Amino acid sequence: MNNVLEQYDKSTETYDETTPVLIVGGSLVGLSTALFLARQGTPCLLVERHRGISPFSRASGFNQRTMEIYHAVGAEEAIRAASPPFDNLSIMRVESLAGKELDNYTQSKSDFEQPISPAKFSFITQDLLEPVLRAQAEALGADLRFNTRLVSLAQDADGVSAVIRNQDTGAERTVRARYLVAADGNDSPIRRQLGIGTHGYGVLAHQLFINFKANLLPALRGRHIFFCYVVNEKVQGAVAAFPGGQAGMLNIPYHPEQGERPEDYAGERGLELIRAAVGIPDLAVEIGEMRTWDMAAIVADRIQQGRVFLVGDAAHVMPPTGGYGANTGISDAYNLAWKLALVVKEDAGAHLLATYEPERLPVANLTVDQAFALSIERIAPHLANEHTPKPVRYDLPVMGYMYHSTAVLSEAEVGDTAQEDPFNPTGRPGTRAAHIPLLRPQQGDHAEARLSTIDLFKSNFVLLAGSDARAWCEAARYVSEVLGLKLDVYRIGESGDLRDIDNRFLTSYGITPAGAVLVRPDGFIAWRSHAASNQPKDVFEQALSQLLSLQ
Ligand SMILES: Cc1cc2nc3c(=O)[nH]c(=O)nc-3n(C[C@H](O)[C@H](O)[C@H](O)COP(=O)(O)OP(=O)(O)OC[C@H]3O[C@@H](n4cnc5c(N)ncnc54)[C@H](O)[C@@H]3O)c2cc1C
Repeated sequence: MNNVLEQYDKSTETYDETTPVLIVGGSLVGLSTALFLARQGTPCLLVERHRGISPFSRASGFNQRTMEIYHAVGAEEAIRAASPPFDNLSIMRVESLAGKELDNYTQSKSDFEQPISPAKFSFITQDLLEPVLRAQAEALGADLRFNTRLVSLAQDADGVSAVIRNQDTGAERTVRARYLVAADGNDSPIRRQLGIGTHGYGVLAHQLFINFKANLLPALRGRHIFFCYVVNEKVQGAVAAFPGGQAGMLNIPYHPEQGERPEDYAGERGLELIRAAVGIPDLAVEIGEMRTWDMAAIVADRIQQGRVFLVGDAAHVMPPTGGYGANTGISDAYNLAWKLALVVKEDAGAHLLATYEPERLPVANLTVDQAFALSIERIAPHLANEHTPKPVRYDLPVMGYMYHSTAVLSEAEVGDTAQEDPFNPTGRPGTRAAHIPLLRPQQGDHAEARLSTIDLFKSNFVLLAGSDARAWCEAARYVSEVLGLKLDVYRIGESGDLRDIDNRFLTSYGITPAGAVLVRPDGFIAWRSHAASNQPKDVFEQALSQLLSLQ
């Protein structure tokens, strides 16, 4: 399918429609962006060239940080309801699904879950998750148009102009948006049109997905095998068994440079490979849809250009090892959405958007390095050399990175520290606000309830104050009213709104009982004061104005 953008005809002066935010790409990251914006009450228009959700399972592990995000936007319950009932699953290297296990990388679901988050890891494939996101975003008013392709775009000082085309009728409409989010995938036509280069390790391999139906239960023998690397005489690839054991996916290297085409695998050749991967020679198999993809480890050199922002695979492509790709894209979208929402509502200065790149580009570099390191370790150890990055603990690239930008009031001693161990949180601005178990005392008819600090971070800024920090609470309420900004305030401690069950709040957030911490809508710490101040209103107003680029 031709997916090259045309030159936008700048003579067009009238537009068929306008929107604050145009999102291009209606796969996982585009749909997440639409949901996050809609949850913030910001209208958006999303265009996706395909008729519906992709049938390829692709990402299937959504980490605790991602599930914190989906919890915050109210989508977690629906995602759990659509998820298969996995409780114990494994990623292995095998001779075949039915055959000998050579290596076992994951043995239980709890390996993916750490006490640093109240969220549960989610095992749901992308093809099951995307319909949930689509329904949630539409229910909140997002305008999602499938079967609609972006054909051209141009930006100027005031906005982005675009032409979108209905794929069936060919009817075109001009759209004027204040901002554009490019969630258009690893080959991002928008990235290419903007002339943004990439860096990293390049394309590692060309791959082919083959979806198939077959009874895999005899090969699974009661095991919940999530994903297997298969190494035998006929297949060097990977096989996934879908929930229920009646369908799966084979992923194999593919060689277009030698003239191969996907159709070459539609018949006997595909059947032979699937049977060899499953390890049952006479297995009855029905081959389904096929799709090629490139396993690559690349990062865009820039992820903002004027009014256009790259998110997800448009910004970074990584090997599936580690399951970081989609998760990183969802965090990009979450970082960007609250900023777009505040700027569109004019509650923040436009410069707030310039913090997206300095915050997310280092995370993209870090995560691509990690996915690449794992791909070398698991798939091609013979390619390792002294420049190959070393794998680190999974939670570090997921929850341990720190943001440095004008949307964080960094403390002097932090310098440009890139990471912090999420098991030993310090409350430094720029880090993810730590999970602390809390108790909400009984209030009127509402019974006492347990919750986490993470449950407090939804779409507003949040002030978490020590039990003696009434002055900070008053200052925050006053300033939020002056600035017209939604801000929630909680005093935590014996006499506060919420009780600190394990007495960990003050140490984990690095404040005294008279201090306070300001958490951004995306759950990252923006500012803190260790103790009281003589002029809390002035100090707080100054901090918030700076963070929101209002000065
Ligand atoms: C085998 C495999 C396993 C994976 N496993 C994991 C995992 O376990 N965990 C994980 O986190 N990640 C995983 N990933 C990565 C994950 O699938 C991707 O990171 C994710 O799909 C990226 O989503 P996206 O929305 O950014 O891009 P895409 O899914 O590529 O979507 C881009 C969309 O943009 C649309 N588009 C492009 N151009 C236009 C245009 N001009 N007009 C309109 N629409 C357009 C396309 O049609 C497409 O739907 C895996 C990937 C693979 C291949």
